[in-house]
Amino acid sequence: MQRRRAVGLLSLLPLTGAFGLVGCKREQPYLQFEGATMGTRYHVRFRPPVSSFDATAMQAVVDARLEALNASLSTYRPDSLITAFNEAPVGQVMPIDADFEHMLALSRQVHQASSGAFDPTVGALVKLWGFGWPKPEQPLVRLPEAAAIEAARVRFDAIAQSAPGQLVKHAPVQLDFSAIAKGYGVDLIAEVVRAHGVQHFMTEIGGEVATQGNGPTGGPWRIGIEAPDPVVTGRVLTRVHLSNGALATSGNYRNFFEVEGRRFSHIIDPVSGYPVPQPPVSVSVIAPNVALADAWATAFMVLDEDRGLAVAEKNQLAVYWVYQDNGGHRTRQSSRMQPYLDAAKH
Ligand code: AMP
Ligand code: MG
Repeated sequence: MQRRRAVGLLSLLPLTGAFGLVGCKREQPYLQFEGATMGTRYHVRFRPPVSSFDATAMQAVVDARLEALNASLSTYRPDSLITAFNEAPVGQVMPIDADFEHMLALSRQVHQASSGAFDPTVGALVKLWGFGWPKPEQPLVRLPEAAAIEAARVRFDAIAQSAPGQLVKHAPVQLDFSAIAKGYGVDLIAEVVRAHGVQHFMTEIGGEVATQGNGPTGGPWRIGIEAPDPVVTGRVLTRVHLSNGALATSGNYRNFFEVEGRRFSHIIDPVSGYPVPQPPVSVSVIAPNVALADAWATAFMVLDEDRGLAVAEKNQLAVYWVYQDNGGHRTRQSSRMQPYLDAAKH
């Protein structure tokens, strides 16, 4: 999971305005709380079901659930299950928990449907290209050798579950769930919030968003997609309306590095082992849950424009691409995205 703030991308801005009573029925005012997780922050805004609602108790459950997730999946923690798996020798059976198993299953689903564009076995490549944790002391000054890239190549097929709760690798591969775990964290927050009887809420971690019901102004939640700008945050490019939805964005405009005069993305093409040469500026995806939206958004950073659109249509995904274009930008969307954009215009 991502620790460096530069890596985090606040590409989605909750736009819903003032809190307070809306409509003619007396409703509870919206509340909000936030906390630190995964190198960034989570936010929850919600309408409590009763005036005596204990938001502090709900936040404690959210924090405990996120802590359990990080203890399993954080590559930044030396004592996490994923770090133990990554450091384990080939052939050694390692324990994993239900969150880990779920991430593997969802990752495999997106891996297959994206023809390998999404691959959580990019761990060694991510480190080789200087995006791992701990952060390299020196920025890369030379490109990695071809042999090193070959040695770090992806091998999703080399990971097998010998039994429930157990995982083994048949080649020295390393897992990295950074491209899906933040989204999954948002799904878990939403689960906790729902379990507390809340029907209207928006929650996000670093720009990956889940919504349900209405926002404080009465209608669906309005979520802004940020305009690409390497320095200025918060300029809205477009908006989507979401009542019960999951939306995630992957972006490149604040997270790249330059070596030998060339610019490199933090998104790795699993097939070549190289950073994607000219990825979109950002890709936003609406999917049935935030984990899937997050994984797909990363996959669409790898797929080229034509293949990306074809894969989005085939998998019936709502996708919004922003591309660099002659010093400006241009956008594109799949057919399923159009209704969300149209709704936001009214
Ligand atoms: P995201 O911001 O969700 O797009 O996730 C980006 C992070 O996922 C990177 O910083 C890497 O740690 C990891 N990653 C890079 N390329 C891939 C890929 N092709 N498939 C899966 N994870 C990737
Ligand atoms: Mg992602």
